[in-house]
Amino acid sequence: MHILVLNAGSSSLKYQLIDTGAHPEALLAKGGVERISDPAEAVAEVLQSIASLGPIQGVGHRVVHGGEGFRESVRIDAGVEAAIEACCALAPLHNPHNLSCYRAAHRLLPAVPHVAVFDTAFFHTLPPRAYLYGLPYELYEQHHIRRYGFHGTSHRYVSAKACEALRMDPAEARLITCHLGNGCSVAAIAGGQAIDISLGLTPLEGLLMGTRSGDVDPGVLFHLGRTLGMTLTELEEMLNRKSGLLGLSGRSNDMRDLCEAAAGGDARAGLAVEVFCYRVRKYIGAYWAALGGADAIVFTGGIGENRAEVRARIMDGLECLGGVETLVIPTNEELLIARDTARLIGRAGR
Ligand code: ADP
Repeated sequence: MHILVLNAGSSSLKYQLIDTGAHPEALLAKGGVERISDPAEAVAEVLQSIASLGPIQGVGHRVVHGGEGFRESVRIDAGVEAAIEACCALAPLHNPHNLSCYRAAHRLLPAVPHVAVFDTAFFHTLPPRAYLYGLPYELYEQHHIRRYGFHGTSHRYVSAKACEALRMDPAEARLITCHLGNGCSVAAIAGGQAIDISLGLTPLEGLLMGTRSGDVDPGVLFHLGRTLGMTLTELEEMLNRKSGLLGLSGRSNDMRDLCEAAAGGDARAGLAVEVFCYRVRKYIGAYWAALGGADAIVFTGGIGENRAEVRARIMDGLECLGGVETLVIPTNEELLIARDTARLIGRAGR
């Protein structure tokens, strides 16, 4: 089955065309459209570039926020589309792009089934103690304020791969998976199910990221509002785009640049890398406690896969955990999206 996987961001559209019928699955084409102004044009451009590779049998869409309703991937119909739209309030920076990409693709390929694969779905198993914030309970009940988590497709993929590598039954395995890319998160996984995740209501919480702050005392925001007169929009922009590795280093959001600059004597770059590694280490320790021990710590994402020096600095000091296995497993979210899409289409066809 030829499955087109679409991953729409605020300014780019990434795609892969995967033949899920081949053994193993075959990547037929991949690419992206940068600096998009019109989603319909971007999708048309993608379809144009893969037109010679034969008809598409299904489209898998990465959708960032599935709220509490979507616990797994789902074929998109009018009801699902409306429910995804309702989740836009929870992820205003992400879901609208996913939705307009779906609408454009649906208009251009109306006869082809479309499937939504949610970044949040893998975390539907979190227990209340992990997903509730210490806020008035009515905010959860009436406004759905809770931890949802993101990067679920990546954590699901690498945790399954880790069990294969460890030759362990997923039902028996306790894993801490670290997705360290532009966005970064740590998940605690027991028995194949997520029990905690560092990202929260939005993809801002937890680890230091390329341009996102991760954890900060919420009091900082009130202080900045009062003393500098910063508006909500300015604070949101600062936390999402001017913080993290970029904000601390004042130089770059790219770990490669920072490691080089630090080696060349740039103290702030060194500090950014140090804060980054320390924060990951703290979360690993916390999730070790949440899980009651772990069989392996898994690294993935651009930084996690490629930077041994960063992995070593994260693990430095964790000898106290005993001889825990560390694994590096390249993530492949698109493959999992293609598999889910093919499976749901196959199920509907029977
Ligand atoms: P995304 O989260 O957007 O999918 P990736 O998982 O590809 O991104 O991660 C991108 C980040 O990975 C880059 O910002 C860069 O900092 C980092 N990265 C990629 N290769 C290396 C490398 N060899 N060394 C250090 N960092 C790297």
